[in-house]
Amino acid sequence: MKCLKFMFFSLLGTIAFTISCSNDSENTENTDDTDGGSDGVNTPLSAFDEFNLDAVTISFDGDEITIDTNGLPNHTSPYWEETHPLYIEPVVAVAQTPGRIGGDRSLTLTVSAAPEIAASSTATGLGPIGISVTGVPIFNDTEGPNRPLEEEIAETFDYAGAHNGPSGYHYHVESADVPENTVLSFDDEKLVGIMADGFLLYGRREMDGSYPTDLDESGGHYGVTQHSNGEEFYHYHIVNEFYLGNIIALFAVDLQGTPNSIL
Ligand SMILES: [Zn+2]
Ligand SMILES: [Zn+2]
Repeated sequence: MKCLKFMFFSLLGTIAFTISCSNDSENTENTDDTDGGSDGVNTPLSAFDEFNLDAVTISFDGDEITIDTNGLPNHTSPYWEETHPLYIEPVVAVAQTPGRIGGDRSLTLTVSAAPEIAASSTATGLGPIGISVTGVPIFNDTEGPNRPLEEEIAETFDYAGAHNGPSGYHYHVESADVPENTVLSFDDEKLVGIMADGFLLYGRREMDGSYPTDLDESGGHYGVTQHSNGEEFYHYHIVNEFYLGNIIALFAVDLQGTPNSIL
């Protein structure tokens, strides 16, 4: 219909008309996606009760939420210094990347308290793309420029799905189902963290135990969670697909909102 209307009122030639017409239809699709749900629903604040307050400080400032973390997890790992109380022998990792958890690595993310889906999605880059409930940054499915997670890298993950890198300890994949794992989401509905665009990331399942069936290409949908008091809001789930062997990436997809930097 847009094309027809345009034709009636346009004095432009046929070629210009064709270009404008195809652009129009693309924009229309994007707009439809954006309007598909209720944009700008407030992120349920009770979700922030799940964060490890030994590492994370949450500040609410009207329209914005700021998440500060020192990046230090509240669970055991072979990546702690051997003298640290949370150090354990590896239970999953068969190799380890250099370095140990430690130091005080401050990361800050500020997001809208009512994030909206953007007109177009955004690919994630190297470095932190979200902050987990433990305070550890969430990374995507790459380990360097054009280097996707591969077997050799997966072998360095501890049961938390993390390893150490030049910028510190970080998660790439879902945790492992081992008795040592008492904190992290594994094939459940737990809150995993908050992504750089302000949308929350949950485990693979809904709060009723089912796997969501209406997820978009980013693993997101409008729905209720254990934090939203019956109100539907947009959130992500860990996509319930093996990424490599038996590992499941935490977030190997594009962000649907507008990401802010995690610095
Ligand atoms: Zn890594
Ligand atoms: Zn959901």
